[in-house]
Amino acid sequence: MRTNQLEGACDTCYTHVVAGSGRLIGHPGRWRVLCLTCTPLPPSRGLHRGWFEQTLASLDLETTGVDPHTDRILSYALLDTDGERAGLVAAGVPIPAASQAVHGISEQSLIGAPPPRIAVAMITDWIQSLIDRRIGLVVFNAAYDLTMVRAEAARHGVRQPAWDRLMVVDPHVIDWGLERGGLGPRRLADVASYYGVLLDQAHDATADARAARDIAIEMGARHHEAGACTLVELTLRQHLWHSERAADWNAYAARVGRELDDPTGWPLVAAPAPAVTATA
Ligand SMILES: [Zn+2]
Repeated sequence: MRTNQLEGACDTCYTHVVAGSGRLIGHPGRWRVLCLTCTPLPPSRGLHRGWFEQTLASLDLETTGVDPHTDRILSYALLDTDGERAGLVAAGVPIPAASQAVHGISEQSLIGAPPPRIAVAMITDWIQSLIDRRIGLVVFNAAYDLTMVRAEAARHGVRQPAWDRLMVVDPHVIDWGLERGGLGPRRLADVASYYGVLLDQAHDATADARAARDIAIEMGARHHEAGACTLVELTLRQHLWHSERAADWNAYAARVGRELDDPTGWPLVAAPAPAVTATA
């Protein structure tokens, strides 16, 4: 949840809220100010048992942009149950200024880093080892990061892991299943702040991967609906929540002419159809 930039009356109790002292809730064009007392909090941890008690892995990438099919991996963090690995990738493509402003990775900083073929093979081997060890992988907005890993593996001729057997825990999708978008924009930093999870260096892959895993555990422990099940059952619920979120978005997107989401595109988005080339 975001801090209110403008003063206003609390939407719930009508107390005057000074700029910067309350929270914003809602959506662009329909923002509402709340005082701190009226700001929604997540439920306390419950007594239920579930997947969140297992050790989980976590992955995060920093990349050149927002298209998982065409953009490239610049850095990765792989958090296993017994340690962390992080590194840079010499992507060999220009880094747009806009993405450099987000994560601070420049072409200069990639000198000496391994080429994508080596780095991507290491990432896919690691993902396969999680599948073999039946360890769940936390990825915040998996449809982006995992689709990019798959596209990079295809691009560089690297063997794909058995994607359909990977157990993914996606706090972005679970959050939608629990809140239905009612708390406004829910980027990693918003959700971390809501659950009281420390995120001191947003857009550093290791910091983001740690926060995503901590958020997943809090969600599971605090929400019976999301936590009291096995990883296999959670996977089914996330497929359903993703398709419901896509339907909700698509109803809006169709009205205003925005691009539609694929209801089946979690945790991997279907590759775009190859461009049709005219033949003589
Ligand atoms: Zn209030």
